[in-house]
Amino acid sequence: MPAPRPDTPVKFLKGIGERRAEAFARLGVVTAQDLLWHIPFRYIDASSVTEMARARVGDEVACVGKVVAKRLMPTRRGLRIFTAVLRDASGLLECAWPGQAFLDRTIQVGQTLLVAGTVRFYHGRQLNPSEMIVLADPEHDSADPDPMNAGRVLPVYRATEGLSHKVIRSLLDQHLDGLIGMVRDPLPEEVIRAQGLSPLAEAIRAVHRPGSTLEAETGRRRLAFDELLDLQLMLARARILARRQRRGTAFTVRRTFTRQLAESLPWPLTEDQKRALQEITADMTAPQRMHRLLMGDVGTGKTVVALFAMLLALENEAQAALMAPTELLAEQHAATLTELLTPLEVRPELLLGRLSTTEKAARRRQLASGQLRLVVGTHALLEESVAFQRLGLVVIDEQHRFGVEQRSQLIAKGDAPDVLLLSATPIPRSLALTRFGDLDLSTLRIRPPGRGRVRTGVRSGSQREAALDFAQEQCRAGRQAYVVLPVIEESERADLRAATTMSEALAARWPDLSVGLVHGRLKPAERDERMRRFRAGELQVLVATTVIEVGIDVPNATVMVIEHPERFGLAQLHQLRGRVGRGASESYCILLTDGPAPERLKAFAATNDGFLIAELDLQERKMGDLIGARQAGEVELRVARLPDDQELLGSARALAETLLQRDPLLAEPRHHPLRERALLRYPRAMELFRTG
Ligand code: ADP
Ligand code: MG
Repeated sequence: MPAPRPDTPVKFLKGIGERRAEAFARLGVVTAQDLLWHIPFRYIDASSVTEMARARVGDEVACVGKVVAKRLMPTRRGLRIFTAVLRDASGLLECAWPGQAFLDRTIQVGQTLLVAGTVRFYHGRQLNPSEMIVLADPEHDSADPDPMNAGRVLPVYRATEGLSHKVIRSLLDQHLDGLIGMVRDPLPEEVIRAQGLSPLAEAIRAVHRPGSTLEAETGRRRLAFDELLDLQLMLARARILARRQRRGTAFTVRRTFTRQLAESLPWPLTEDQKRALQEITADMTAPQRMHRLLMGDVGTGKTVVALFAMLLALENEAQAALMAPTELLAEQHAATLTELLTPLEVRPELLLGRLSTTEKAARRRQLASGQLRLVVGTHALLEESVAFQRLGLVVIDEQHRFGVEQRSQLIAKGDAPDVLLLSATPIPRSLALTRFGDLDLSTLRIRPPGRGRVRTGVRSGSQREAALDFAQEQCRAGRQAYVVLPVIEESERADLRAATTMSEALAARWPDLSVGLVHGRLKPAERDERMRRFRAGELQVLVATTVIEVGIDVPNATVMVIEHPERFGLAQLHQLRGRVGRGASESYCILLTDGPAPERLKAFAATNDGFLIAELDLQERKMGDLIGARQAGEVELRVARLPDDQELLGSARALAETLLQRDPLLAEPRHHPLRERALLRYPRAMELFRTG
């Protein structure tokens, strides 16, 4: 067989064929080059594996052992639990997989498994593996009975149905030398040297057949760099093209309204706010259209920054629109703006779906005539009948809750208006640079002083009564409390406390307090109504599922109790916690766990920095990825890991920009290999790098 080319389909490689090629395609492996880049997501050797005898409750471990017994156990509630006992040289460990009865067909006595997860206590030590891989199966392969022999570093590959990790490992082993022969390093030598990277062929050999885990990591870094570079080349090119097309209006800083606001603000802007405002002003006064994302935790003061931007449009005889995802949020914004604008001659008006036909008609007339300059609304702004006299700035709050279509519908109501998107979900810069590659980014990290702190505590079983009593005390003292649960009804998960039951229990326990309940199965109008009652203080306690993550601002609420916090992602917990600490007084967030506090929750309790939590959350989700549950909709990175590879990302981005500055289409012969590879990896590159 002739040597494979990078674009040779894998089905033509020996030992693969149609069926396995289909399975490979599910892993994103279609060509010979893809196979070479299907790199292990972890390695095991003696140093990364815990001896079973040493696995202690609370530890995060990875163990390797043989299955000596297995069993499928029914539970009272009809949930079936699969358990297996594994043995290694040091001892035994029980593993349990609740609700995964199907594993009874996959896992057989005699197999060698890798299992990873946290050890918990359940009639003794027990592991609920978050990861499980069949390393060896004596029934089917006699060649490799003990993959952990002789101190080898064993690569572990992402697998899929019909294509086990073992098969992938042996296919790669078989083809590695032939495939490496086709590798041409697209990076110029001086770049490789300057970045301190390994040559490509060497790196690929190191990740698939490492002599040590250090060698594997050195190889991985090189591949990660290349992956990030290809992506950044695409994004940088897309930014250049987008900027060229974004002709817009150059506003002038007239310092009429903006100065009046600056002079009447009761407090100075934070340094972050000032910087964001400078960035926005630079965009709005430039002839291109602004296309900027302002990202900052709840309470970091995005609204006032957006207000300055809107006033800049207004003092240029243009109109500004602020769109929010719910009526409640729109009302809150309108109230905030009205207050901040009291000393000025400017009044915002609301345009909401629930207004009467006459009211809506009046607003539409005012917008069309230009009499109304500043409008705050919901999706109602998108209706076809809404037209502006001269829309100069569009601000979209909680931008991720609108589709691209909806955002462009509003933008289309102006003649190339500037666009400012707001997001209260901090994400690490590294991720933002890949996810929002075509947006400019401003961040608010520090919170304005003078607002109440939120203290977070993790409490376990024996302290739950005290925690609830504390919430009650706060409510009796005139404050309000949230109690958050992961599910609506008990029937969803027998082992979890549920919102419905909890609200009944609390109503009985606290007869002198009024307890309300909100969850995702209520009609939106009903839910909004209950939230309004809570905001108005008619309800003191609000029992809720995660529906309260967004959309409610009640400064008087000072306590949040979260049940089963281990069920939530860290970023989600942070969003929830953001509902308290909105007034001047100290607030409390109490996480009620059943067992001892896991490290991740302790780390969460120790910080209020949304960007830091976002990084921790990202780490966690990447851990989740190891078992194959990838986030949909994100740029897929197979080798690079963010935020760990943040520095590599920075260098790749800088290199991409330098390269494109000198050679915008990568048309020079020495850049052809880079261009070829970007085209292989991203079909979209065809269009972006089209010559002529
Ligand atoms: P976000 O929209 O980012 O969640 P807001 O814009 O609602 O935050 O601001 C939160 C609160 O902080 C508001 O009550 C606002 O008036 C106040 N605030 C904003 N900027 C400052 C500042 N620089 N100093 C003091 N308070 C501020
Ligand atoms: Mg806000």
